[in-house]
Amino acid sequence: MKQPPVISLKKICKSFPLEVGGEQQVLFDVSFDINPGEFVAIMGPSGSGKSTCMNIVGALDTASSGIYELYGKDITTMSADELATIRNEYIGFVFQNFNLLSKRNILDNVMLPLMYRGIPMSERISKSREMLKLVGLENFETYLPTQLSGGMKQRVAIARALAGDPKLILADEPTGALDSKMGNEILRFFKKLNKDLGITIIMITHEFEIASYADRILHVYDGRITYDGPVPKNEHVLLKSEKSRKK
Ligand code: ADP
Ligand code: MG
Repeated sequence: MKQPPVISLKKICKSFPLEVGGEQQVLFDVSFDINPGEFVAIMGPSGSGKSTCMNIVGALDTASSGIYELYGKDITTMSADELATIRNEYIGFVFQNFNLLSKRNILDNVMLPLMYRGIPMSERISKSREMLKLVGLENFETYLPTQLSGGMKQRVAIARALAGDPKLILADEPTGALDSKMGNEILRFFKKLNKDLGITIIMITHEFEIASYADRILHVYDGRITYDGPVPKNEHVLLKSEKSRKK
């Protein structure tokens, strides 16, 4: 049987209340499906609504209207507790600033989310060691995050995301705090996770060069998807798609 899409957004709109009254609409009828094993970049200029979209996809926030199905489950109307369970079960997050606990060593950082899932200690340790090995940091488990380079910190964050056996990795500007050499290393690693382990990846970026590591680009402009397709030969195609909105 064909698997359902990992993600299916249908006409998602999102508005935020304004302090002065009224509201600001940030997403307009955003619709797309993402299938198992895809590596997709969500690209667009700053303020276009990428993070808002990712927060909804990651069940960190809810849409104002529209339907969001994760693995065929409608999560639009779920409670905060139910959403937390969904996040734990399905999604691994990677953020620009790594979000590591600075006073805990690397192994603890990777293990922590497993504790919230009620996984026994011995299993937590073995799983976390396995993930640190996967990202090439098996000799650093007693180090503190402050003792590592930015690229290494991001690899710890990736190990932490992978430890929960997510169906989906969501990465918001994952190379935004890294120099280009370390950034490329992280991107190649994402590519490998996607190709070798078949993990579905959605990566947010405002840079075409970074988005080009993905197999598909969703270009967002002013809260609308203006391009959805394979990585074009150059960025011009994406910028041109914005015109459909600017007119
Ligand atoms: P991007 O990630 O593409 O830079 P965002 O999704 O962060 O864009 O923001 C899109 C727009 O939504 C911006 O105008 C931003 O100010 C607004 N916005 C984002 N989050 C909130 C919020 N929690 N409350 C009010 N406005 C927000
Ligand atoms: Mg953002």
